[in-house]
Amino acid sequence: MTQINAPVTPDVMTLPRKLPEGGKINIVGLTRDQLREALITAGTPEKQVKMRLGQIWLWIYHWGVREFSDMSNLAKDYRALLAEYFVIEVPLVVNRQVSSDGTRKYLVRIAGGHEVEVVYIPEAGRGTLCISSQVGCTLTCSFCHTGTQKLVRNLTAGEIVGQVMLARDDLAEWQQPGAPKNEVRLLSNIVLMGMGEPLYNFDNVRDAMHVVMDGEGIALGRRRITLSTSGVVPEIARAATEIGCLLAVSFHATTDAVRDTLVPINKRWNIKALLDELRDYPKLSNSERITFEYVMLKGVNDSDADAKRLVQLIKGIPAKINLIPFNEWPGSPYERSDWDRIEAFADIIYNAGYSSPIRKPRGEDIMAACGQLKSATERGRKSAREIAAETGA
Ligand code: SAH
Ligand code: SF4
Repeated sequence: MTQINAPVTPDVMTLPRKLPEGGKINIVGLTRDQLREALITAGTPEKQVKMRLGQIWLWIYHWGVREFSDMSNLAKDYRALLAEYFVIEVPLVVNRQVSSDGTRKYLVRIAGGHEVEVVYIPEAGRGTLCISSQVGCTLTCSFCHTGTQKLVRNLTAGEIVGQVMLARDDLAEWQQPGAPKNEVRLLSNIVLMGMGEPLYNFDNVRDAMHVVMDGEGIALGRRRITLSTSGVVPEIARAATEIGCLLAVSFHATTDAVRDTLVPINKRWNIKALLDELRDYPKLSNSERITFEYVMLKGVNDSDADAKRLVQLIKGIPAKINLIPFNEWPGSPYERSDWDRIEAFADIIYNAGYSSPIRKPRGEDIMAACGQLKSATERGRKSAREIAAETGA
C-alpha cells in the first residue's frame, strides 16, 4: 500500500491532448522550437520535452529512422503516442536517372501530385546536391527552362529538407549504429539552384536550412550551403543575417538593357541596386566571396567588352565569377558560346584578379544540368500577358 503515497509521475497518456486537425503532422522540416511545441501539444510533459526532443531529433536526422517504433530508447507508450500524432515523411522518388558521369537526377512527387527535380553531383572527395525551392517559378528568365513554367506553389520546409534526406537515403549516407563517423561525405554541399527562386520562399528555405545545419543531425555547416538568387534585392540581407549561408547571384549581363531581357527582375531592381545591396553581404554574413553566376550565351553577353565591364562593375566586392556554358533545352532561344570565346572571357576576368572557373556541364545526357529542370506534370506555359504582369513590363 506504500505505492499510494508515492509521488505521481505525470503520465503522457493522462495529460490533456489535442489531436491535430487535418491529419497527422509531418515532423520533417519543423524547427527545434516548432517540434518542441508540437511535442508538448501531443502530451509530452514539459519537464521531459527537452530530452525527448533531443532523442527524436537524433533518430530522424542522425540515424535516418522513419518509424517511431524503431526509436528504441523511448517507452513503448510514448512511441505509440508519437505515431498517433506525427509522421516522418520525405517526398517520394518517382524516377531516378543516373548520367554517364555519375550525376543522379531524382524526380520527386510532393503533396498535390506536383513534381520537382533534385540533382546530385558527385565530385572527388565531396558531392553537391542541387535542391528546388518552388514548383515552377514566378520569374521568367528567358534562358531558363523552369522560367517557362508557371509557379505552382512554394515548397514547404519539410519538402525542402526532405530532398536532402531522400538523397542521403539513395547514397546510404545515414550513420549506422556502431560504425565510425563518416569523415568523407558523399553529400557535403547544398546549392539552392534547382527550380524556383529561393528568396521568394524565404521563411521555408530559412527553416529548412536551419534543420539541415543543426549540429546534432545532418550537420552541414553554413558555408557548405549556397543560395542562388536572381536578385530579389530586399530579401538579400535576410539571407545573410537569418541563414548565414553563401550567396550566388545570377548576374548574366553587364548592361541593364541586356539584363532586362535575360533576367527580367532587373526591371524592378537594376544592376546598380543589386550591386549596392551585395556590397554589404560578406560583412553581414561573415563569409567570404559572393559567386557571380554568368551564363555564356553566344553573341548576347559574351564579348570582351562584356568581360571588361563585368570586372569594373564588381570592383570592391569580394567575388568569384562562375561562368556557366548555356545548357540548351528543347525550344530554347539561345546557343551556347563557343569554347574559345568562353576561355577568352574567363582570361580577362582572371587577369583582373578574380577567380573565373568555368562550370563543367554535368548530367547533360539526362537533362540534369543547370537550368534544364522542369517538372513533367506541369504543362502550363506562361502566356505573354502573364509574363508581362510578373515582370512589371
Ligand atoms: N532562381 C535562382 C536559382 C535557380 S537557377 C536563380 O535564378 O539564381 C540556378 C542557376 O542556373 C542560375 O544562375 C540560373 O541563371 C542558371 N540557369 C538557368 N537556366 C540555365 C541554362 N539553361 N543554362 C545554364 N544556366 C542556367
Ligand atoms: Fe526562376 Fe532562377 Fe529560372 Fe530565373 S533562372 S526563371 S529566377 S529559376
